[in-house]
Amino acid sequence: TSKDSGKNKFSVFDQEMNRHQLRRMSLEKDLRKALALSEFMVVYQPKWDSLMNVTVGLEALLRWRHPEHGIISPVEFIPIAEETGLIVPITNWMLYVVCSQNMRWHNEGVANVAVSINMSARMFEGGSLYEVVEEALTRSGLAPHFLELEITESIAMNNMEETVAQLTKLRKIGVRVSLDDFGTGFSSLGNLDEIPVNTLKIDQVFIRKSKMHSKKAIISNIIAIASNLNMEVVAEGVETTEQIELLQSLGCRVMQGYYYGRPMPVHELGQWFIENTAS
Ligand code: C2E
Ligand code: MG
Ligand code: MG
Ligand code: MG
Repeated sequence: TSKDSGKNKFSVFDQEMNRHQLRRMSLEKDLRKALALSEFMVVYQPKWDSLMNVTVGLEALLRWRHPEHGIISPVEFIPIAEETGLIVPITNWMLYVVCSQNMRWHNEGVANVAVSINMSARMFEGGSLYEVVEEALTRSGLAPHFLELEITESIAMNNMEETVAQLTKLRKIGVRVSLDDFGTGFSSLGNLDEIPVNTLKIDQVFIRKSKMHSKKAIISNIIAIASNLNMEVVAEGVETTEQIELLQSLGCRVMQGYYYGRPMPVHELGQWFIENTAS
């Protein structure tokens, strides 16, 4: 009867919820040990100047090598890390690892570019971000302008005063700042000039749908805003030559996406630089 099938549907839904909750709980438990067990790995994706044909930056992205589940995407574990507060020790660890790796690339003559790290809102809450960044720079020996912090509009808007205060301190010593996933945060543009930012990163949803006139108009306007506020612009998620041609015609030259390079582990990046550096 219809009553029975309704009941069944509900229990299937229930089981689905349960499975999801169980995985989440078990991941949360494992996440607490992941740092100590060295299960995190950093991969790096190039930011490419499509006019000069050179790498102008790298973005550091986190991967979790889970002993049973294999590689787990940050899309799944970062929210858990944020809710539990584990994101703070993880990001602190990452700051040092990434600065040291970038210093190594500089010393070896492999690369001379800034590497960016994604910041979560939690990093701006304790008030210790400046100290952690400074320590990572000092201990690694990396010059501050070779480190970039990626923040989202929601971080900036949530706690505007505190975020701006901390970013201003960091900008003063030369650390770079970019606004990630720009255009998706419904931020009031009226505040944009008050956030100390070097670069706007156009969110990949606009690039993916850039054939649509409306999305093209948004891309074009983000590029105009960046230019008028003396900021640089990077297009995220670039996958096709059509997208590259369109972005170039709109005045965007720096791009990040699978077309140019996927996020790669350290041992692959050396070779990638050799193959992608004009001699
Ligand atoms: P994000 O910072 O916007 O990073 C860009 C994401 O887009 C990365 O996914 C990257 O692999 C992916 N991507 C790059 N090019 C393309 C492309 O051409 N096509 C498509 N479809 N995707 C592309 P990933 O590594 O899975 O990271 C997802 C998100 O997780 C990041 O978005 C960031 O918000 C967060 N995340 C990653 N690592 C960290 C971290 O260390 N700390 C924090 N707080 N968040 C992180
Ligand atoms: Mg990012
Ligand atoms: Mg992004
Ligand atoms: Mg994103």
